[in-house]
Amino acid sequence: MPTDSNDLRNRAASVIPPAQHSFRVGPCPDCDRRVLTSRDLVDDELIARCLHCEAPLDSDTIQWAAPKDVVELGYFIDGYQVPESESKEGGCRGGACGVQQPESSTT
Ligand SMILES: [Zn+2]
Repeated sequence: MPTDSNDLRNRAASVIPPAQHSFRVGPCPDCDRRVLTSRDLVDDELIARCLHCEAPLDSDTIQWAAPKDVVELGYFIDGYQVPESESKEGGCRGGACGVQQPESSTT
């Protein structure tokens, strides 16, 4: 039924903000950290899933994040580098290239 899937696609598009380099991140209880999320269609409803363990995430907890924030979560974005002036550790030279665990003061 092509009309149905078109409708769903339109609905999905309508919830995505206008073109920005933004990423959806949210806290994954299983991974115990903030993760990038993917989307999945379950029973005609778009849900967010952890990109790592695919656990369904509460969509209320999903936030849009700028590339800089995503990199700070330990992800690599092809073609994007945190401007050196904004990077606390001085970028790669400070050995900060690897996965950074978010050990902020939230514990
Ligand atoms: Zn997870």
